[in-house]
This record gives sequence, C-alpha cells and structure tokens, in this order.
Amino acid sequence: MDKIGETTLFINLKALEHNFSYLKSKIDPKTKFLAVVKAFAYGNDMVEIAKKLESLGADYLAVAYVKEGVLLRNVGIKTPILVLHPLPTNFEEMIDHALEPSLYSPKILRQFLETASQRQLTDYPVHIKFNTGLNRLGFWENDVDYIQEQLQGKNELNVISIFSHLAASEDRNEKDFSQNQINTFEKISREVSEKLDHSPFRHMLNTSGILNYPEAQFEMVRSGIGLYGYGNHANVDSKLQPVATLKTVISQMHKIEPNESVGYNRTYQSKGFRTTATLPLGHADGIGRQYGNGKTHVSINGKKAPIIGNVCMDMIMVDVTGIDCKAGDEVLVFGQGASAEAFANAANTISYEVLTAISPRVERVIINA
Ligand SMILES: *Cc1c(COP(=O)(O)O)cnc(C)c1O
Repeated sequence: MDKIGETTLFINLKALEHNFSYLKSKIDPKTKFLAVVKAFAYGNDMVEIAKKLESLGADYLAVAYVKEGVLLRNVGIKTPILVLHPLPTNFEEMIDHALEPSLYSPKILRQFLETASQRQLTDYPVHIKFNTGLNRLGFWENDVDYIQEQLQGKNELNVISIFSHLAASEDRNEKDFSQNQINTFEKISREVSEKLDHSPFRHMLNTSGILNYPEAQFEMVRSGIGLYGYGNHANVDSKLQPVATLKTVISQMHKIEPNESVGYNRTYQSKGFRTTATLPLGHADGIGRQYGNGKTHVSINGKKAPIIGNVCMDMIMVDVTGIDCKAGDEVLVFGQGASAEAFANAANTISYEVLTAISPRVERVIINA
C-alpha cells in the first residue's frame, strides 16, 4: 500500500480470491457458490468485486435491490444475478436487465406473474423464498399449494430454485433452532418437488451457515461477509483476509491543557496534559457517533489512539498522548492489521455495519497484486 494523502479505503482483490478459495474448500466441489455483492459489495467496490468474482468462477451473484443489479449489468457482468428483495415498481427494469427475482409473498408472485404475462415471457427464471423462522421475507410452509395453483398451466415462469435463510447461523447456542429451520426447509422442498413436478435447486446457508452446518449446503450456498474477510468467529477470521482496509492521515495536532474539552458538546474533558490529533474522517464517511467518546481506537505508528469526544460529520479527534506522530502521518482505522469486527464490537455493532457504512465520499484504491 502506497503512502496516502487522504482517507482511503484499500480494496484487496487478492484477499477476496483467498477468501473465495477458503470458503469453496468448505463445501462439496459440486455445490454452486453464490457471492453476495449487495450494498456496494459490503461497502467495497461493487463493480470491481463482481468482476473479480465472475473471473474466479462464482456461479451466481446476489444483490438486495434491482438498481444494484442494473449497475452490474451495465458494466457487462454476465453471471446470473439473484435479486433478494425486488419491489413491483422495479419489475420492468429487472426483466430488461435479465435479473432473477426472489419471489417472497403471494402478492409479489401474483404481481410478477402479471408483468411476465404482459411481457409475454416464457420460462423466466425465478427463485422462491420460504420463511422458516427468521420471519422477515418469505412464503410460509403451507403456501406451497397456493404457489402450485398460481403456476399451474402457465409457462411464464420457471422456478429454478427455492431457498430460505437461517436466523442465527453464527450462534452455537441456537443449534436446535437452526436445525429446525433446516428440517422445515427439507420438508418444504419435498413438497415443492411433488407439487411443481420438478425439483428446483435449493440453498439455505450464508457464511456462518457454510462453516457451522455444511451438511445443509444442498445445491448452492450464499456467502457475503466471509468473502470480505470476516466470519463471525475469531477462529474463522484467522483463516480469512480482510478485503477492506481503511486508512487516513493526521490533519492537525493539538496540545490540550488540563480541564479543557474536545469536540462538540464538550463530552471529552481532559484530566491532564494531552496531545490530540484531528483526522479527516467523520460520520459522513461512515464512522458513526457510536464509535466516539472512547469506545474505539485507531492505530498510529503501531500504537492505539482512542477516538475522544463526539464524532463530527467530517472529523474525529484521537488521543495520541505518548505516541510519536505528526501531521501527515498515516492512521490505520481497520482492515489488515486491525480487525473491523473488533472495531465494530467495541461500539456494540458488527463488521457488516461498519463495512457497509463507508460512504462513497471515501477514495477507493484497488489492490490486485
Ligand atoms: C445478505 C444475505 C446473505 C449473506 O450473508 P452473510 O452472512 O454475509 O454471508 C445470504 N442470504 C441472504 C438472503 C442475505 O440477505
């Protein structure tokens, strides 16, 4: 990584390749691999990440919304793309860009059928989502008859897969609940095969699912966070490599006297003589206010510097007392050498949130060697 002059998110495609191979090694070579690239590829660079995953041979990509899929098609991504959370207002655009919807409710199924019929589509690939316990999106177990009724004698749609999502795949204390979800999904899949007269391929596991329930990999798995270097468990994290590394620089140093305050609303009060550094990084860049007031730290020349006071929109102040540093020095926020998971956990959140929050304003630099 070259010396930087401003806040920069380094995106390491070699780390992505490593994580892809590691996760693939945990599943059967015949099992398909869907790479989740929603939310700007978890805050990285969606286009660069998707291109890399396509070149590595990912079987499927997934996005949350239609617009994200359109962006990928517009840069020439050819891999099949599953849209996890389509809305009727975007159906036309979805079809125009050969994006495959998750159909998750009777209403969405009817509305998509209607659009498909108006557009005179035949065998348009769709994926049916079943709710087995997360209670977020999905048909219920007893909706299979309804789905059959709707699709009977029609050739507009081709149900190529059915899927579900685990509610607590990373939590070993919820093994019984997860096993129950898996059993329910198996039951649903038998019923679907019977009633639809063909067997769509099946998928249920996210990253932690792949690691904790490999026996439930069915014909495909869906991984997001693991590809980006985090696995919701220290043992897993040690095998993965962070793709995103956020760095910044020191803008200005300050000498603070005892009983002075730092930042808005004066939440930091100095007890003694302190040295602080101001960094060009704030909540508008994705470092939210929950990370301030001593909750988390950054690293400067190998030493920990806590974020003090309230996080501002475009700046944070860190306590660098005793650290040999000056304006212009590099600051490591998280990534290679400083886990984003640990950074997030210190502020009561998770790697997913801190990664996806990094705003488009932050310079991205791709590393591919
Ligand atoms: C986001 C998402 C995933 C990816 O989960 P990770 O924990 O990041 O691997 C998989 N499936 C669905 C339905 C999702 O919404």
